[in-house]
Amino acid sequence: MNIDRDVTLYEVGPRDGLQNEPDSVATEIKRQLLERLIAAGIPRIEMTSFVSPKWIPKLADADDLAKIAPRSETVSYSALTPNQRGYERFQQAKIPVLAFVVSVSETHNKKNLNRSVDEHLEAFKPIAEQAKADGVALRMYASTCCGCPYEGRISTSQAMQVMKRLISMGADEIAIADSLGVGTPSQIRDLVRAAATEFPVEKIGLHLHDTYGRALVNLMAGYEEGIRTFDASLGGLGGCPYAPGASGNLATEDVVDLFEGEGIRTGVDLNSLVSTTLWLENDVLKRPLPGRVFRAKAAKKSGDQEK
Ligand code: MG
Repeated sequence: MNIDRDVTLYEVGPRDGLQNEPDSVATEIKRQLLERLIAAGIPRIEMTSFVSPKWIPKLADADDLAKIAPRSETVSYSALTPNQRGYERFQQAKIPVLAFVVSVSETHNKKNLNRSVDEHLEAFKPIAEQAKADGVALRMYASTCCGCPYEGRISTSQAMQVMKRLISMGADEIAIADSLGVGTPSQIRDLVRAAATEFPVEKIGLHLHDTYGRALVNLMAGYEEGIRTFDASLGGLGGCPYAPGASGNLATEDVVDLFEGEGIRTGVDLNSLVSTTLWLENDVLKRPLPGRVFRAKAAKKSGDQEK
């Protein structure tokens, strides 16, 4: 790990955030976003997804973006790659980390992907093997680890069954995802402790959503259990814009501000990040984003100017 930071932020805004926006963002604007995130000191970025453009039209420019994305020694990119066709595009893009998502909930998996957990994992197996042979690192998400919209609360043992499969498939990193944002600190502690008995805790990331306002307490619970990689999305980008009140990913600025306030170094320049989020909100998306810290910082800035 970089000596200038204690925790590693994994920025999902360009992928998890922008894919949920009502309007497409121009590829050149996405390039500028990557450039700004790197300049702010973000060390890891999930750039895009090599999913079929028919499924996610907002990320149809994945190949073009990868061609013009700024490359820097200070940043590591990753991209979602769900299938063989996606893997061919991923290879062309020369991205070092492949991200793959499976839901630990059987019903959620079926509703989203039209196949069972087992079918989904089996279909990915040859791609995982190819990736390992090609020297690509595998970041594997276990999603809906705390709760599922169809099955309700998910037990730690159910989540662990799937995580064990991911580990056996050669995962280099496991991301425990509370996709619904329903988890509690004790649930996160249980999950991390259980996962850490099977896998090095320094290779486990936490992907939290803030639907019920618990993402930050869950984040600290994870930190106290040894997690050092945290997913976040600038401005909290990633909430469904059509569902009022639905909150998306934990906001990157909120994570940076909390950690830095606790003396835990993120290596990220908060002011630079706030400027980027304001640019995204005002000039690109033209809609308010849910993150709290950037909002407070922006209000303070304009208040100072008025004085
Ligand atoms: Mg998410």
